[in-house]
Amino acid sequence: MIFYMNKHFLSFIFIFYFTNIATVHSQSVNYYKLTKKIENGYEQLNQQGGQFITFIGNLCYESDLKGIGVGHGVLKINSNYSTTYKTYIGDSYWGSNTIFRFSNDLTTLNVCTNRDVIYVYKRTTAPQNVLTCSLIRKDTQNNTNNQIPIIQQEATTITTNNTTNVNSSTTINSNTSKKIKCHWCKGTGRIAVDDNAPSNLGQRRLSYQCNECGKWINPNVFIHYHKQCTHCHGTGLQNL
Ligand SMILES: [Zn+2]
Ligand SMILES: [Zn+2]
Repeated sequence: MIFYMNKHFLSFIFIFYFTNIATVHSQSVNYYKLTKKIENGYEQLNQQGGQFITFIGNLCYESDLKGIGVGHGVLKINSNYSTTYKTYIGDSYWGSNTIFRFSNDLTTLNVCTNRDVIYVYKRTTAPQNVLTCSLIRKDTQNNTNNQIPIIQQEATTITTNNTTNVNSSTTINSNTSKKIKCHWCKGTGRIAVDDNAPSNLGQRRLSYQCNECGKWINPNVFIHYHKQCTHCHGTGLQNL
């Protein structure tokens, strides 16, 4: 039942999204420089870096200088929040359900994360030679930046019996390795990829529904496919 609802929710979002591409041709790319981090009420100044954010219709997403998404996902405007701000909710570098709260003139951005940290960004001209976001999700396998993977609170905990061969004569059985559902692929072991479609030379291709995830795909805009999750190597589990 949950899967059924997700399918329709995704379809709804994507129909909405493509409707907007069709009717609103303009997109704008802004650069936001990180000015401070607020953690437990304490402000930390002297922050480095910045993100490009592209706005199209009622969506925004982290992108490069040219407006091509960096693969973090999309946030959708949410009018249930105060109209003092423009509030977008969705997937970002900081994980799912991140809140991007912009001032109405889009000059200030507060990123509210699931970890009770607020990042304050100011719109400015991007420094020369800065072509993309300073924060881009990396494969945790190759990660050298101590980026903490975000663990979803509702993730189920699975205890596995981990057998380790220390040497040829000794075998230790331990119960200590805890695994949770991989948050990148939601435990499915596979990840959907949307690449920009190449130019179709004026030939319109019909939208279709992906038979793996149920998402509606406009093949004039995206090439959509699924691949093995690189974070859990297709197991659907990650270490706690
Ligand atoms: Zn995974
Ligand atoms: Zn799919």
